[in-house]
Amino acid sequence: MIAVKTSGEMAVLRENGATLAAIVQRLRSKIKPGISTAYLDNIAAELIREQGAIAAFKGYRDFPATICASINEEIVHGIPSTKRVLRDGDIISIDIGLIRNGFYADMAITVPVGEVSLQARKLILITQAALSRGINQVKIGNRVSDISHAIGRCIEGAGFYPVKEYAGHGIGRELHEDPSIPNYGLPNQGGAMLRAGMVLALEPMAKTDSLPVRVMPDGWTVVTATRGLAAHCEHMVALTEDGVEVLTKIKFPKETSECK
Ligand code: MG
Repeated sequence: MIAVKTSGEMAVLRENGATLAAIVQRLRSKIKPGISTAYLDNIAAELIREQGAIAAFKGYRDFPATICASINEEIVHGIPSTKRVLRDGDIISIDIGLIRNGFYADMAITVPVGEVSLQARKLILITQAALSRGINQVKIGNRVSDISHAIGRCIEGAGFYPVKEYAGHGIGRELHEDPSIPNYGLPNQGGAMLRAGMVLALEPMAKTDSLPVRVMPDGWTVVTATRGLAAHCEHMVALTEDGVEVLTKIKFPKETSECK
């Protein structure tokens, strides 16, 4: 069942989304060659605490950290470590969540470290563009498959591959609520109808190879099969009578890319 939020609940979600976006903006400014993912994790933990919130991922199914930090071929769920030091040319995805006043917020970005390859930059920009395309489909009366198709088509149109094993989700009193929102799919496949009051976390993941993903022996880190690059970004959005609203709005760098 898909939870429809009251305006009071929506106000809490809106506030939490804005808080998380501000934290992500701070974290992004710290990313540079030479720092470790554990350093970013410590900062994230501190920033969440400062806001009177609790880290959502720490302890979730025993995940050991505040953020997921996934570098290059790592797609999602990378575990921060003092041994993972960012190098010029890497791309890093940071996925972060918090809970405050009974409601979750969830967001992810992928950021270039120093100078990255043309392919890496394109992959990041297309993943962001796919997210925008997905958000554009969040309309009253549309179906979940409209979102999925828009995201997948953007990624595939650029010559990349959507990650099929992980999906976006509803969010609210639970971190992962119904509906599940795949990042690919044919148009007009139905799925749940979108209604005012729904809050969704859309999170396209794109990669450079077409093979199924793998999970590393740590039980968490998801990687591409051939070590090709992957990117991931996520926004929380609310659907109201006035339309779609991005709750985790952040200023992305000016450079953008368009889907075909
Ligand atoms: Mg999520």
